[in-house]
Amino acid sequence: MSFILHGIGVSEGIAIGHAHLAAPAALEVAHYLIPKDQIEQEISRLNSAFSTVRKELETLQASITSGPAIDEFSAFLDLHHMILDDPMLSDAANKCIAQSYCNAEWAITQQMDVLLAQFEEIDDAYLRERKIDVIQVVERVLKALLGHPGYVPPPVKHAGDRILVTQDLSPADVMQYKQHQFSAFLTDAGSSTSHTAIVARSLNIPSIVALHHARHLIFENDYLIVDGSQNVVIVNPDKYVLSEYRLRKTQQELEKRKLKRIKSVATMTLDKTPIELYANIELPEDVEQVKESGAAGVGLFRSEFLFLNRDVLPDENEQFEAYREVAVNMRGLPVTIRTFDLGADKSLKGHKQISDNPALGLRAIRLCLAEPQLFHTQLRAILRASHFGQIRILIPMLSNASEIDQTLHLIEYAKQSLRDEKVAFNEKILVGGMVEIPAAALCVDMFIRKLDFLSIGTNDLIQYTLAIDRVDDTVAHLYDPLHPAVMWLVVRIIQAANRAKMPVSICGEMAGDIQFTRLLLGMGLQQFSMYPAQLLTVKHQILQSHLPDIIPLTNKIIKADTPEKIYGLLMKLNK
Ligand code: PEP
Ligand code: MG
Repeated sequence: MSFILHGIGVSEGIAIGHAHLAAPAALEVAHYLIPKDQIEQEISRLNSAFSTVRKELETLQASITSGPAIDEFSAFLDLHHMILDDPMLSDAANKCIAQSYCNAEWAITQQMDVLLAQFEEIDDAYLRERKIDVIQVVERVLKALLGHPGYVPPPVKHAGDRILVTQDLSPADVMQYKQHQFSAFLTDAGSSTSHTAIVARSLNIPSIVALHHARHLIFENDYLIVDGSQNVVIVNPDKYVLSEYRLRKTQQELEKRKLKRIKSVATMTLDKTPIELYANIELPEDVEQVKESGAAGVGLFRSEFLFLNRDVLPDENEQFEAYREVAVNMRGLPVTIRTFDLGADKSLKGHKQISDNPALGLRAIRLCLAEPQLFHTQLRAILRASHFGQIRILIPMLSNASEIDQTLHLIEYAKQSLRDEKVAFNEKILVGGMVEIPAAALCVDMFIRKLDFLSIGTNDLIQYTLAIDRVDDTVAHLYDPLHPAVMWLVVRIIQAANRAKMPVSICGEMAGDIQFTRLLLGMGLQQFSMYPAQLLTVKHQILQSHLPDIIPLTNKIIKADTPEKIYGLLMKLNK
């Protein structure tokens, strides 16, 4: 039977292929019977999975040698050790295999259910919540049993024409899927500016999120058409729809190929105003795509992705090599390294989220200032790499003067430590700040006085201005880049920076969306940073834009106060 599902398209393009369903959690396990003569073997399989996890926890413990949260983190690892060693889990699961002849995965999840039921009976809310630790330990054992890290599905033969269908993906999961080369991602949860969507977009494959029931309505191997531009998935299409989409897909690929012709054309508007287009990256290997796009440099290197999916965090040398690789490969073009923006939806492996509102919690620069040793390691690595190219430092989530002062002080401290060791670095390295909290936007003049450049993070600026959680699909319809309050803030940041002759860019998703290109040009923006696959499309729009025509219409849009007026004027602007 053919049917259509609607969601939010987060990465454009058409993919056609077979569905591959990934379990939403490792806890969805198979149940099968073990022949009597293999029971011993099954028990020892489970025991060796326990040993693997024990070793993983020990390695993790050994990697945490400093930092203010060391005690808390150690206590959390001790608790996991205790759960792992508890006979209620291991012995009972072994008994279950011996008595019921069931597979190890099934035995351990059955025993977990018994323990969780006991936790439910506990009165103390804090202790009751420790059931999450039991789940995490069992997940680790399951991963060890299945022989793979994270929720990566078993390798499929022709991943290239496979479409991944899953409940949800964390940014870390998406990074792991990178090597599997699926031709599209479909998730039941998610929203368009979640980090998951951003990473999917950077992979340059069609993706649709917020499908709600895809995981239950689509079966393994169903034939699918994914249209990321029209937000639809067509399940088991008939032959007419299929041939229509094959044609559209070929046409889109042709258009993309044609765009390559403008790669080396200078980026300027029709009235000859030069514009700079930069690329956003997550990992050093993304530089290949950046070069293909003809970008003027890297406008945002989300360095926190180096820290995800890791049992042991990257040390100074490993980080240095990664930053140097990017700087060298970009051959002297600017590379803007954002110091790690961990927290919220990008947490370190094994770190429990203790805040009810992680997006408002210990994230990005707040975490760096709370963990100065981690920050110092990264700053030294970036500074060392600055000797090999044109590296700039970008600080995320700044909200007040004291955070800027502390950050600049720590950068100076890292510089001094290198000077003492006679290690070369760029003394004049530029330090910029992300303007992504309304407080920063409202006090932008203070940011301009203290920093060398600004980058507007519209993804978070919109989230915090409109009080919309960017990862919550139930409020995704309220996430509006054209809300007058958002436009008011963006235009004032750009104008203040332009008045002070301070470089300002936008590195949020708005910069790569061509429906906003002319609006942003009209506001005075001259630097855009976006995912590389979108760069030539934005460039094409810029080459066909004439600022003297755009500015009066932009001024009208900024002053308009109803969505009807705003969208009507925007259509006129983009004609
Ligand atoms: C932003 O907030 O716009 C931004 C670029 O940073 P991130 O999406 O990584 O939070
Ligand atoms: Mg941000």
